[in-house]
Amino acid sequence: MRGELFRKQILYRQGDIYVLRNTMPFPLRESNAFMAESEQGWTVIDTGVNTPENQQRWTLALKEIGISFRHIQRIYITHYHHDHLGLAGWLQEKSEAQVFLPPPDLLTFNTYISSDQYYPAVKDLCLQAGWNHQLIESLADDVKSIDVLMQPYPYLSSLPEDSQLEFGGCRYRTYLVPGHSDGHIVFIGDNGWLLGGDNLIKHTILHLTDWPHTRLVNPLEDHLQALQELDSLDIKLVLPGHGMCFSHLTEKIEAVIEHHEKRKNQVLQGLKGISSAWDLAVKLFGDNPYIHIKRLVLAETLAYLNALASQQQIAVEQQAGINYYKRL
Ligand SMILES: [Zn+2]
Repeated sequence: MRGELFRKQILYRQGDIYVLRNTMPFPLRESNAFMAESEQGWTVIDTGVNTPENQQRWTLALKEIGISFRHIQRIYITHYHHDHLGLAGWLQEKSEAQVFLPPPDLLTFNTYISSDQYYPAVKDLCLQAGWNHQLIESLADDVKSIDVLMQPYPYLSSLPEDSQLEFGGCRYRTYLVPGHSDGHIVFIGDNGWLLGGDNLIKHTILHLTDWPHTRLVNPLEDHLQALQELDSLDIKLVLPGHGMCFSHLTEKIEAVIEHHEKRKNQVLQGLKGISSAWDLAVKLFGDNPYIHIKRLVLAETLAYLNALASQQQIAVEQQAGINYYKRL
């Protein structure tokens, strides 16, 4: 007899993989965590943000499955963002599991998230992008509100490139898909299942790029190229980081590429005279009242600007600490 979590579809099974739907205080509202038995005990992929509600969901989910926290041996994180990594520290305290993060995201985590460089770095780059002092003031609260969802930080191990793992009776290998974050990995199973993190979501297209934390010169191009490489593989089912599972990968990839090409063109056409990145972002994509969304919109606008600069369609020059863009 299935329990309440199954009835409410907070927990469901996709083959031998359990999918736990966590809540989060952002427009996306929920994120997926995956659990399956493997040769070395239970393995988790992604965790959700650390809130009392999600801690309760994890506790109930493990009870429902019939295992304890100590059964969890390994935790893999697709990328370092709070809605994927956030609960890993809490889970590690309870399970003593090893937590793995791909090397580029481990570097980002160590450089920004777990150091005191996060706020200064975001602040500097927001000022360069044309944010005023009122916006900069609200940034400090945003940074703190995100950080609290990731505490306690886990002790992290570096996941070697091209790793393989057994998960739910199937062999998966990791595959780097940079763009949403520098080190974002996906897991591709021998059965054609793709645990895709934030690259491909059924009901929406998530923001691109990890500015100001990215070390990629042209995250848009890297991202679209990686998606095209994914499209050449025989993927039968996508288990995404948010929302429901889906097939028809090619259609989704085409939609993502079209979306970004269209927006990049909007940025080029919308650039009249000279403009800061932020003025352009507000003009083209609107000004969301929520500070965190403002940051994501700015980050994506910068990704389009960088792509256009790489194609030598626009130039950038700095005046009084602010970067201004113009068409060539
Ligand atoms: Zn993310």
